[in-house]
Amino acid sequence: MQPTFSEQTPATRLQAVRETIRRLENRYRRTPGSVRLLAVSKKKSAEEIIDAASAGQRDFGESYLQEALKKIAALKDQDLCWHFVGPIQKNKTRQIAAHFSWVHGIERVIVAERLSTQRPDHLPPLQVCLQVNIDRELSKSGLQYEQVPDIASALQELPNLKLRGLMAIPRRTSDTIHRRLRFAQLRALLEQLNQSGFGLDTLSMGMSGDLEDAVAEGATIVRIGTAIFGARTAG
Ligand SMILES: *Cc1c(COP(=O)(O)O)cnc(C)c1O
Repeated sequence: MQPTFSEQTPATRLQAVRETIRRLENRYRRTPGSVRLLAVSKKKSAEEIIDAASAGQRDFGESYLQEALKKIAALKDQDLCWHFVGPIQKNKTRQIAAHFSWVHGIERVIVAERLSTQRPDHLPPLQVCLQVNIDRELSKSGLQYEQVPDIASALQELPNLKLRGLMAIPRRTSDTIHRRLRFAQLRALLEQLNQSGFGLDTLSMGMSGDLEDAVAEGATIVRIGTAIFGARTAG
């Protein structure tokens, strides 16, 4: 029997999201298990994260540094893998380098240089993605396509970072064809980089509202918040 709405917890919703991903992998002929689920827990409590962790979830994404640091400290015995998915100010790099395993939204070489310099010696390289402005919106963060090869080359020189791939947050639209086209363009850019010698394996794309289009077009990490933890309060 399906749990009724009031019985839904992060653990039960997580299970449903996992099943959806398996079904989509099958429908779009993706290798089973090739889409990694990142649970975006920003604005959610340590208790809600523990509930998701009890269902086997290990990867969690956070956007707000101070809030994240409190949860990471509170959950240090849980063996979780923390991903920073928010915008990065220069003065936040030291803490991010010390407390996270992944950073998804790199768009400036200066930030990457600081993260590499500040990465503590006892930790493995920080796993990073370059954020691409796939809709070419003036107001939106992320690199233009043309900028990506040079910045990717610069990042490869940094000893304590490992460039894994590309990340994007598409414009909100109900136009599925438009979204799939944008995701396909991000995948094409990754393939182009790999043809010129980069060994990249990560496409971080797809959120609660566009999961299917992202899996269809090759996402390897989907960043899911609302579908696991419920709506976030504004502010
Ligand atoms: C909040 C956030 C998500 C999760 O979005 P949902 O729509 O709640 O799934 C994914 N990626 C980034 C970068 C985010 O900031």
